[in-house]
Amino acid sequence: MRDAYDVVVIGGGPAGSTAASLVAQAGHSTLLVEREKFPRFHVGESLMPECYWSLERLGLLERMKASKFTRKKSVQFVTASGKESEPFYFTEHDPRESSTTWQVERADFDQMLFDRASELGADCYDQTRVLDVLLDDDGAARGVKLRTVDGQTREISAKVVMDGSGQSSLIANKLGLREDIPDLRKAAIWGYYKNAMRDEGDNAGATIVMHTNQKDSWFWFIPLSNEVTSIGCVGDSDYLLKTGLDSESRYRLELDRCPGLQSRLEKAERVGKINVAKEYSYWTKQHSGQGWVLIGDAFGFLDPIYSSGVYFALVMGERAADAVIEGFEQDDLSAKQLGKWCEDFKRGSRWIHKLVDAFYTKDFSFGGFMRDNPQFRGNLTDLLIGRIFNDGVGNMFEKMDPAMANKASSQAIA
Ligand SMILES: Cc1cc2nc3c(=O)[nH]c(=O)nc-3n(C[C@H](O)[C@H](O)[C@H](O)COP(=O)(O)OP(=O)(O)OC[C@H]3O[C@@H](n4cnc5c(N)ncnc54)[C@H](O)[C@@H]3O)c2cc1C
Repeated sequence: MRDAYDVVVIGGGPAGSTAASLVAQAGHSTLLVEREKFPRFHVGESLMPECYWSLERLGLLERMKASKFTRKKSVQFVTASGKESEPFYFTEHDPRESSTTWQVERADFDQMLFDRASELGADCYDQTRVLDVLLDDDGAARGVKLRTVDGQTREISAKVVMDGSGQSSLIANKLGLREDIPDLRKAAIWGYYKNAMRDEGDNAGATIVMHTNQKDSWFWFIPLSNEVTSIGCVGDSDYLLKTGLDSESRYRLELDRCPGLQSRLEKAERVGKINVAKEYSYWTKQHSGQGWVLIGDAFGFLDPIYSSGVYFALVMGERAADAVIEGFEQDDLSAKQLGKWCEDFKRGSRWIHKLVDAFYTKDFSFGGFMRDNPQFRGNLTDLLIGRIFNDGVGNMFEKMDPAMANKASSQAIA
């Protein structure tokens, strides 16, 4: 590890590895540091089809196609009474190859991205924790202080620090930039099952979203490789975690309350332990500064309902890398230059936020909305694919908004 780099990237998740890959590929000396020993477990297994374009740019499509990862061709919703919606098939709406995506074991997926950054020229170190981001008195980043795998503390200087540290969001925490999204104080409890029943045919790899009987919580059903399925419950943090029950009992109780899951779990057996994540949705009020920029979850995170997290991380990694590369060309590493992509990103992600709000509006249902407004099926499928940066939404939200007039959270970040 040298003492100085053009760019230091914190975090070897999808955001950090993407950013490091692209700035290194453009010829800038790049250090990518990750605190965990890779490969490491991570939640967030279901991809959105629009991940395709970042994976293509990173030169990883062939590896994805040759991988063990389950092919995901659809998303399906199941009501509180157990009624299954028509699956939203991505290829039905857009028959291109890019409409099929994957359900990934994140340990393997993230390792692949981390390795790619190394292949493209970044110096990549796992088991290396950033202890502090070093800022000048005027707030400009000048490097990081880190602890290496053998326990040494070092200061590494850099012209740019890209923060992809995920929910640790190092810079945002240091500068007090994190803002909770009050309506989305959720928690998740999840586990893994062998031999949970899957559909046959094109819906076999679907992400299935299932409400529990009172709509107090919902489950994700994500089919992974080797007949293992990720099954997780999401609900208000207070509802799920402050009941006096331990997380195992709470999870079981919610499973019993989920009609859509019962037949799928008849022959299934849990493997491994239960995991818990709490209060994970937040936003940041400033996304870049002189010589630094936030990417991925370090920038902000929205509820997992539409599986947008990894897609957002890849897109932010890519866009921020382009801004950094252009900044070096123009000798401009200002907040404005490094964050020039942020407003457009926020405009796009707002559509997903509105869909999140719709999902959590108790008297709103996508099934009912589609029945009354079948003309919007294409627009909705576009959003489930992740196509948020064009005008494909049409006037769907003009119809949907009144039903969620009491939901202010998506306006809060707009
Ligand atoms: C319950 C739940 C379910 C989810 N389900 C989905 C899903 O189905 N699909 C989806 O797309 N997304 C999902 N997500 C979101 C997804 O997990 C994240 O959005 C995604 O991992 C963000 O990528 P990232 O690179 O920004 O951060 P991460 O993947 O979290 O990577 C950040 C990395 O930084 C490292 N790091 C942190 N601090 C330091 C430090 N000080 N020094 C060095 N390294 C550091 C961490 O170890 C980590 O490896 C879910 C999230 C939750 C909470």
